Amino acid sequence: MDRSDVLKAWGRILTGRKPSLPIEITRECPLRCPGCYAYEDNHLSGPGQTLRSVADYKGADLIDRILELVRQYKPLHLSIVGGEPLVRFRELDLLLPQLSDMGIAVQLVTSAVREIPRSWADINRLYLVVSIDGLQPEHDARRKPATYERILRNIAGHRVTVHCTITAQTATRPGYYEEFLEFWTPRPEVKKVWFSLFTPQIGSDDEEILTPEIREKILDEIEELSFRYPKLNLPKQVIEGYRRPPASPGECIFAKTTLNLTADLRTKISPCQFGGAPDCSQCGCMASAGLAAVGNYKIGGLVPARKIFDLSYAAGEILRR
Ligand code: SF4
Ligand code: SF4
Repeated sequence: MDRSDVLKAWGRILTGRKPSLPIEITRECPLRCPGCYAYEDNHLSGPGQTLRSVADYKGADLIDRILELVRQYKPLHLSIVGGEPLVRFRELDLLLPQLSDMGIAVQLVTSAVREIPRSWADINRLYLVVSIDGLQPEHDARRKPATYERILRNIAGHRVTVHCTITAQTATRPGYYEEFLEFWTPRPEVKKVWFSLFTPQIGSDDEEILTPEIREKILDEIEELSFRYPKLNLPKQVIEGYRRPPASPGECIFAKTTLNLTADLRTKISPCQFGGAPDCSQCGCMASAGLAAVGNYKIGGLVPARKIFDLSYAAGEILRR
């Protein structure tokens, strides 16, 4: 984000709009990743409603409806997630150039389970993010059929961001994430690497959950790695945000500036992209951490940016109502 993006986002907030619009464009996914929040029973708030049970769209219907949503909500940033977005690669092949022509920045988050069309490399403002959770043995076990072998083949000719979610199973293994960076960062297809931390639901006991001690230790470790691996995109402020996550969704700038829609293109996912009742005290979302850090920044050394945000947000809400 540069200064003009910040001003545009602020303008959206003042008028009661959300600058960011993530959409689960399909309910389908060929993967079954352990710890996946999208298919949890409480991901959507309607009774008995899950991502697998909602209606989704295909073909021209999907393209037209997404374009209509973009015209309606006028986001600065559209995030296309799933399910697995590449299940709808034919639709995306037509949709992505149109979104680019509309000046919308699009982030497409994928497992790279199938080939990413080469022509997408020339689409302006399209950012490809590929989820790779650990080194080959652990990743392949968790995310087959989107194995290392397939990913390496399917990202050829692109410049992607590698996004790795750190889990308890690997966070305690000495040198594990350095080895991960040694594998991925020299590759020309890799523009940068993001690390986020596994975020549980309140009261859950997933194996992936990082204890407070493990979390502190891995944050120290990846902070040190960020000095030595320039492609690791982990500003000090994000680390600070991970260390002090928002206390609740009401204090999360990211949740308040984002409208999440599921595959029926109507149902909202709240309070944030995780849905259900996420445990903010253990939040590992990089965007939330980054915006929390922005909120803590003191303008002129005096006024926390969060105060300005809260006032702007309240004004925007009044206007929206
Ligand atoms: S690829 Fe994403 S949506 Fe599909 S199972 Fe894995 S985490 Fe869930
Ligand atoms: S992004 Fe993190 S801090 Fe924000 S509402 Fe979701 S879990 Fe809570």
